[in-house]
Amino acid sequence: MSATFVHRRDVAASLRCPVCGSALKPADAAWRCTGAAGHVFRDLEGVPILLNPARSVFRAEDFHARARTTFKDPAAWALRLGKLLPSPSRDISAGHCRRRLAQLLAQRPVKRRRVLVVGCGDGSAGYGELAAVEGARWLETDVSLAGRAAVVCDASDLPFGDGQFDLVICVAVLEHVLEPQRCVDEMHRVLADDGIIYATTPFMQQVHMGEYDFTRFTRSGHRWLMRNFHEVDSGLATGPASVLVWSIEYFLMSWFASVGARRVMKGLTRLLLGWMTFLDPLLARRDAAYDASGGFYFIGRRASGPTLGAREMIGYYRGADALK
Ligand SMILES: [Zn+2]
Repeated sequence: MSATFVHRRDVAASLRCPVCGSALKPADAAWRCTGAAGHVFRDLEGVPILLNPARSVFRAEDFHARARTTFKDPAAWALRLGKLLPSPSRDISAGHCRRRLAQLLAQRPVKRRRVLVVGCGDGSAGYGELAAVEGARWLETDVSLAGRAAVVCDASDLPFGDGQFDLVICVAVLEHVLEPQRCVDEMHRVLADDGIIYATTPFMQQVHMGEYDFTRFTRSGHRWLMRNFHEVDSGLATGPASVLVWSIEYFLMSWFASVGARRVMKGLTRLLLGWMTFLDPLLARRDAAYDASGGFYFIGRRASGPTLGAREMIGYYRGADALK
């Protein structure tokens, strides 16, 4: 990756208190807010843990105690085997979106190519062409220390000042937050006036990441969530075949409580049926497949207010019923 990842000194200038929004000042392996309440947030090995205890489902203490937060660490053998089998978790739009975002970012002046990743995951996901955009400065965040997160924060209270970023990336995150609209509003707040948002969110996918899974969106629901953005592009991120493979996998796993048996069912389904997901790129071009989608992506440009009204949502629908 040739992208420049920001370091601690760069991060410091843009940090804000996740509780009161005041500027943060470094203070002996911690950050103290300059607001009247003087909120203090401890670092963990140089990573600021900036959570609002009143709203986050995560606790700073758990990070400091090294307790599990979001990602379970699978056994090495399970990880290796998993990589050999075709996974239904295929984002068929990823390549297209990265190219599109790379174009949009490259159109901006070099100083205005600041990228915020909300939910960088375990660091295994790449950014393709997007990572090669010259002069882009990246800041990756998550509610996990498993990846490259430079800041641990919750999307519901982003610890950054207004208009600090030009592109916000939020992939497979909004289903894991209690208040998706608040999180999108936060991303809207930290984006510059004409900044770009990129989100992909599942519509039909079984519960994943256990206790940290809360919500799903249709294409229309996803658009309404993003109503303060002009749509640049949107479409299917996960296809109907993925949904089918997941359904069979979870149907079989429903019979078993033991981790081992569930893993066997999962592996067996993927081995026998995983190939079906290679049909999804063909279906992605068909409107009739939209009703059966596993999830949608949205690329939008920040607007100062709503870009469509409630009634316009009816005409926004794209699926089998719109083809009659
Ligand atoms: Zn504060």
